Amino acid sequence: MASVQAASVDKGKENDAKEENAPVVSGGKETTPPCKKQRAREAAARGSDKSSEKAQLAGHLKGLPAQVAEDLGIGIEIPWFSMEDIDVGRRLGGGKFGSVYVARCRRSGFCFALKILNKAQLIKHRVEHQLRREIEIQSHCRHVNILRLYSFFHDEKRVYLMLELAPGGELFGLLQNRGTFSEARSAWYFKQLVEAFQYCHGKNIIHRDIKPENILIGLKDTLKIADFGWAVHAPTSRRETFCGTLDYLPPEIVASKSYGKHVDLWGLGILLYEFLVGKPPFEAPDQPRTCRKITSGVPSFPPHITREAKDLISRLLHKDPKHRMTLDQILLHPWMVENCGGDNANILHRKYGGMM
Ligand code: AMP
Repeated sequence: MASVQAASVDKGKENDAKEENAPVVSGGKETTPPCKKQRAREAAARGSDKSSEKAQLAGHLKGLPAQVAEDLGIGIEIPWFSMEDIDVGRRLGGGKFGSVYVARCRRSGFCFALKILNKAQLIKHRVEHQLRREIEIQSHCRHVNILRLYSFFHDEKRVYLMLELAPGGELFGLLQNRGTFSEARSAWYFKQLVEAFQYCHGKNIIHRDIKPENILIGLKDTLKIADFGWAVHAPTSRRETFCGTLDYLPPEIVASKSYGKHVDLWGLGILLYEFLVGKPPFEAPDQPRTCRKITSGVPSFPPHITREAKDLISRLLHKDPKHRMTLDQILLHPWMVENCGGDNANILHRKYGGMM
C-alpha cells in the first residue's frame, strides 16, 4: 500500500464524524452487502449492542506487541500515534469488524472517533484490500461533507482509525426515527451530498455505495459521507466490479456492464427518493425481483411528493447512464433552487444551521 499517514490531528480544528458496515468479500470476489430488508434488523442489533459495553480499552490495549502488519499489507511506517497517546472514552457503536469510541489525544486534547478493527476478522472476511483502499481514498479527501480520516496506526491484533467525530450518528437512524424527511430538509441534505460528490468526481473518485447508513451527521446537521469501502479511484478506465448495496445498484451494474461516475448519480436519485418516501424505489421481496425492477421498473411516487421533486428523481434514475442529470445540473434544478435558494436559504440556515 502506498504510504497513507494522513494529516496529523491539530488541536483547535473542528471535531465532529464514521465508516461502515464493510461489505463482504468472499473467495477473493466482491459480493453484495445486505439489502434494505436486513438493514433495519442489523441496525436494531447494533443498537442493543451499543448500550452493553463500557470502553475500558485504554488499559486493555496497552502493552500489546507493537507494529508489523505485513499480514494486512500495511506499510511499516513509523506511526504518529499509538494507544499510549490516546484516552479512550464512551463507545459510540459497533460494526462487524470492531467498535467505535470517543477518544482524545493526550497531547493536544483534540477529540475524535477511534475506530478499532480486529485484524483477524478483516483477514477472515478478506476485506483487507477494501480497508486499504478506504484508508488511501478517505485520508486524501478534504471536504466539509466527507468524514475526515486523520490518521491510522496498528498493532499486532488491531487497526486503529482516527476519524472525525460525528455527534449526530448515522443518518439512517434519523431517517428510521422520522420515517421520511420534509422536502426542505431533504434538499438541504441533498445539496451537501451533491457538493461532496462534485469534489470526489473532480478527483476521479467514484463512491459506488451511497446510502443513509454510510452518511453521518456532524454539528449543525452537516452531513458527512463516511464509508469509502467501495470507493475506487478510477482516473481512466471504466469498472466492471459488481458492488454496492442491492437497492441502490444502478441498472448498468445489475446488467454487469462497465460503468463510470454515473453510478453515483443513480445512487443519489435512490437516496433522495428514500429521504422523501421512506424506502428505496425498487424494493422487492427478493433479489431477482429487485434486479428486475431496477433494470425495467419505473418508480412510483406517493401523492404528497411535489412535481419538481419527482422530476429531479426521475432524471437521476434514468436507465441510460449517459442521460442522467449531472451534478452541476442538480444544483440548478428548480426543486433545489426553490428549496435551498432565495428566502429559503435563510430559513434553512436558521433552522438547521450552517455547514461547518
Ligand atoms: P461502523 O462500524 O463504522 O458501522 O460504526 C458503528 C457505529 O459507530 C455507527 O453506527 C455510528 O453510530 C458510530 N460511529 C462510527 N463512526 C463514527 C464517528 N466518526 N463519529 C460518531 N459516531 C460514529
